Amino acid sequence: MRKMEPGREAYFEGKYVPSAEAKISIMTHAFNYGTGLFEGIRGYYNKEENNVLIFRLPEHIDRISRNCKILNIQVPETPKDIEAICVELVKRSGFREGVYLRPICYKSDCSLGPKVHDVGSSLCCYVIKLGDYINIETGLDVAVASWRRLSDNAIPSRAKTTGSYVNSSLASTEAAQAGFDEAIVLRENGSVAEGSAMNVFMVLNGKLITTPPSADILIGITRNTIMELAREELGIEVVERDIARTELYVCDEIFFCGTGAQVAPVRSVDRRVIGDGKVGPISKKLQDLYFDVVQGKVKKYRHWCTPCY
Ligand code: PMP
Repeated sequence: MRKMEPGREAYFEGKYVPSAEAKISIMTHAFNYGTGLFEGIRGYYNKEENNVLIFRLPEHIDRISRNCKILNIQVPETPKDIEAICVELVKRSGFREGVYLRPICYKSDCSLGPKVHDVGSSLCCYVIKLGDYINIETGLDVAVASWRRLSDNAIPSRAKTTGSYVNSSLASTEAAQAGFDEAIVLRENGSVAEGSAMNVFMVLNGKLITTPPSADILIGITRNTIMELAREELGIEVVERDIARTELYVCDEIFFCGTGAQVAPVRSVDRRVIGDGKVGPISKKLQDLYFDVVQGKVKKYRHWCTPCY
């Protein structure tokens, strides 16, 4: 089990409180109906600067703020306030290592009935220490899940809705219990959506291909980052299009990406070896570049890094 090491304080009901005191009621709407939205944001420790740099903080807060409209969530804090709360939580934690921030905008009233109108909302946020979350070194062995990705018209996949992570959980547990590292989840129409909680890219004939926003995916901030880095820094053509399951078996490289997953190469899908079974050259280049960028080592992308201290 992954141990969670929280910061001393969390943000809860409008103030900073000791983490152990940030507790909701069993009657909370979001707990009962899954009516919350969250973000997962990483901060990377830069040793030379002895600072924690939060990666693409405004983009994460922009995503959650926009998606609040879908669930009719209004919180008193502005997007700028939420950014400041994230920075402040890292400061108060004193952590000088990799961190993960989890702001949640949720229906906080204790009220009965599945609905998103006339239910009050709140913001809470916590910080934990976090290093590598899944293996990013040797390549993952993944399986196509028997579970289908929920459709944007059922539970909006473009939003990080707490309730929608039942879908992710079923897929990742199925994969783990069958001896795989991760799952690739298909849409109802049988085309590829993404991983359980990460986007997927494949390399085919020198092009980088990923599934489009219309494929019931979460439009990952890491996905956007990888597309930009591939185009700008590696000069690789990036294509957003549907991917068929069998293309996964015959392509040259596959990797996952996401805030938690970072850039995680895949070495087999359904026991079919991808490429030569080693981490592919494009995956490796993008992975190396990604880690330089998130650690604030590439001047051109330094504006993506928010220092905490
Ligand atoms: N898809 C899903 C379902 C996810 O949960 C995540 C993780 N947030 C991603 C993709 C990757 O998104 P991001 O790069 O913004 O973390």
